[in-house]
Amino acid sequence: MTRIVRILAPNPGIRELEGTNTWIVGDRPAVVIDPGPDDERHLREVVREAGRVSAILLTHDHPDHAPGARTLGAMTGATVLAARPPEGAERLRDGQEIAVRGGTIRCVATPGHSADHMAFFLQPDASLFTGDAVLGRGTSVIDLPEGDLVAYLRSLRRMRELEPRTIHPGHGPLVLDAVGKLDEYLDHRARREEQVLAALGEGSATPEEMVPAIYGDYPPEVRDLAARSILAHLLKLEAEGRVEKHTRGGETRWSVSDPRTCARCGRPVRGRARLCGPCSLAALQESD
Ligand SMILES: [Zn+2]
Ligand SMILES: [Zn+2]
Repeated sequence: MTRIVRILAPNPGIRELEGTNTWIVGDRPAVVIDPGPDDERHLREVVREAGRVSAILLTHDHPDHAPGARTLGAMTGATVLAARPPEGAERLRDGQEIAVRGGTIRCVATPGHSADHMAFFLQPDASLFTGDAVLGRGTSVIDLPEGDLVAYLRSLRRMRELEPRTIHPGHGPLVLDAVGKLDEYLDHRARREEQVLAALGEGSATPEEMVPAIYGDYPPEVRDLAARSILAHLLKLEAEGRVEKHTRGGETRWSVSDPRTCARCGRPVRGRARLCGPCSLAALQESD
């Protein structure tokens, strides 16, 4: 087993939970994942625990994960690697592998929470470092303008296909049942989507109107975040042609789309397609 040590950064918050987890992977040299904020005391503790550092990896460039990278790089001489590299850092690519003693860390592009998000899969341990894509507790925030729920769901399924054993999240505790956690995340999003459609069916037409029905028992300080999370679902459903938005006088209201029917056979179709699956196949064969 490769050595994995967690150092908690001193930045607790609503999204950050107890703070950012900085992960030290391997030994002499070690790889550091997400140095966190540029906090001298925290980074000194990371260096003390890590010893020699060969690389500093960033899951994404949000301010609770990335700003310490430059200082830690200067303290250790290690290269900083990220999908959206800050100045002086190197670009990470999907599938790239970084060697550690007794294993390798593979980069897995997992956009959704942010466009540049990467997870890191340590083999042979099957330990997955998930940044903000999966947290140890609660759910990940898919927030505009960058958050993309369609991409995020694809990323969750991609991580599940890796069959990780443990999840080492960017915030919150270590997860011992990784696949169970990923299933829980996928179920949660599916349930939320049903709730959004149900709220629309009952006459709510804006994210703000839907918050009490969906998030009734949440504290008021997360209402804004909740409304934006509902908006992320609405945008996904819009892309699938299942809801429509109407903007009038600067206000945007949402409604469930009328079910469309196939122009050829009259059966219901999914999304914005003109023809149902079998009819589009038939049309394709005829035009061939
Ligand atoms: Zn983030
Ligand atoms: Zn974070």
